[in-house]
Amino acid sequence: AKELGRNNFQFFTPSMNIKTLQRLKTENNLRHALERKEFHVHYQPQIEVSTGRILGVEALVRWQHPTTGMISPAEFIPIAENTGLIIPIGEYVLREACTQNKAWQEAGFPPMRMAVNISGRQFQQQTLVQTVENVLRETGLEPHWLELEITESVAMQDVEFTNRMLLELRKMGISIAIDDFGTGYSSLNYLKRLPIDKIKIDRSFIGDITIDPDDASIVKTIILLAHNLKLKVIAEGVETIEQFEFLKAQNCDELQGYLFSKPLPKNDLHQLLTKNNS
Ligand code: C2E
Ligand code: CA
Ligand code: CA
Ligand code: CA
Repeated sequence: AKELGRNNFQFFTPSMNIKTLQRLKTENNLRHALERKEFHVHYQPQIEVSTGRILGVEALVRWQHPTTGMISPAEFIPIAENTGLIIPIGEYVLREACTQNKAWQEAGFPPMRMAVNISGRQFQQQTLVQTVENVLRETGLEPHWLELEITESVAMQDVEFTNRMLLELRKMGISIAIDDFGTGYSSLNYLKRLPIDKIKIDRSFIGDITIDPDDASIVKTIILLAHNLKLKVIAEGVETIEQFEFLKAQNCDELQGYLFSKPLPKNDLHQLLTKNNS
């Protein structure tokens, strides 16, 4: 089938039709998911490497659809981005996460940081600063307990805009982490100039650090670079003791991954905090 004509419809294979239909269905369901209260937030601990203490948690959204079951964020976040639905969903996650963090503080746990993912579409909204301000005021969470995670690729799209936006957010007292670091294009010059606090090394570099010398040197270099720029560095997707030991030897500040805990519903995290403090 080398010589396909111009007017062939080979492109529309039956499997693609199913995919398109599924996407439309997901999109349609997504429109009602908020009002039907189908979103939940799970929390994954972020651990200080030197002490094993829980310094914070990352809020990760979960969609529990009544008939389909659990739908992965990898599947629905891109659709939410395209349709703009990520704006109300993201605001819901932010409010829920801040409310929960405040509740844990009031329950007497040692205060910890709450990290919340901000998508590209949310970041481009001029109203983001106002939204964050409102949520902090409504929930009573002090700004320095909130961290926003912005992916490297979103941050580097328009560096001037990013710079202005981050300055405003940081003026409020919240901190900023660059997520999925190493997967996009970062100019080191920009990295130096942007008002950020932390770099989050992408999971794809961590999986093989103990067997692949290239990944090992990339991770070592990122940690050195971050520390030279006075930035904290966290590794995501840490699953084994060997990976943990490697990161510890390299003075990585924090880690997050299944080795310590997967993302947990709020009640399970509450139990983990209770166990940790007794
Ligand atoms: P991410 O921000 O890079 O989040 C880390 C992902 O890695 C999470 O997947 C987490 O469950 C997973 N993970 C954590 N530790 C390990 C580990 O040790 N091994 C492995 N294999 N995976 C680990 P999750 O929850 O499925 O989220 C996927 C992505 O969806 C997130 O990647 C983020 O980009 C997006 N996402 C999730 N929640 C939100 C949200 O509330 N807002 C926005 N804008 N995006 C979100
Ligand atoms: Ca993240
Ligand atoms: Ca990440
Ligand atoms: Ca990632």
